[in-house]
Amino acid sequence: SVKAVDGVTIAIESGETLGLVGESGCGKTTLGRAILRLEEPTSGTVLFEGENILTYDNRQMRLLREKMQIIFQDPFSSLNPRKTVAQIIGEPLLIHGMRSRKKRLERVQYLMEVVGLRKEQMQRYPHMFSGGQRQRIGVARALALNPQLIVCDEAVSALDVSIQAQVLNLLKDLQEEFGLTYLFISHDLHVVEHISDRVAVMYLGKIAELALGASLYQKPLHPYSQALLSASPMPNPKRRQKRIILKGDVPSPIEPPSGCRFHTRCIYAKPICGKDEPALREIDHHHWAACHFAGEVGI
Ligand code: SF4
Repeated sequence: SVKAVDGVTIAIESGETLGLVGESGCGKTTLGRAILRLEEPTSGTVLFEGENILTYDNRQMRLLREKMQIIFQDPFSSLNPRKTVAQIIGEPLLIHGMRSRKKRLERVQYLMEVVGLRKEQMQRYPHMFSGGQRQRIGVARALALNPQLIVCDEAVSALDVSIQAQVLNLLKDLQEEFGLTYLFISHDLHVVEHISDRVAVMYLGKIAELALGASLYQKPLHPYSQALLSASPMPNPKRRQKRIILKGDVPSPIEPPSGCRFHTRCIYAKPICGKDEPALREIDHHHWAACHFAGEVGI
């Protein structure tokens, strides 16, 4: 059996944004989907407002879906091309009992304005919009039921950099206005920096590092986080940094390496790393890392 996510414990405070970062195949999307029960975890618990939602039946889950929403990565394939924007944004309202067409259209109109679209665009189809506008439609659909938690799964990865900034700013503004809580999943540490209060770095199904955003970016403690940060382009050309080139691909989760899962690619690996699995421990104030030598090695 494959354990895409293994022994991960995270908590998200109400109103905060937790960034979840890692390379493709590290388990971050599986974790996000497991929290929403779009993927059924084989064990563990998912607590929402103190209740384990894995024990909920279909009716309870349906009610809970109003509070938990998702924004998908691909604004092209996540919108039904045969439906108008009014139908796409209005669909969750209809499913959750808003029978009156007039009320639905009023709500759709309001949501379109909130995300920066015009109400005249309501009867258009997704192919008539740009990538950024389509993602705004996805955001409006996620907001339709007044959720508390939104999982943003690579929500800006498919967009151009300038459009990414617009959508990120929109998400930040909406968070302030509606008190939203985000789990923001991305493979790009710098995208997450802009929006996150805390950041968790995942590697091969486990949390490698968890810290307040500023703390992680100023002093990453785990060699994997250091490598990810060193690989990102620096916006300031005068600031130089040592590049750490990671060798090879992420190993297969079917047969993960023994001990520290990162030891096959870590430039600081020592014999103990292949034998003993490092625990996630608090090295600094609110700064956790799963490395035997956290704080002693690195850039
Ligand atoms: Fe590298 Fe060893 Fe730390 Fe793992 S425990 S990250 S292999 S130094």
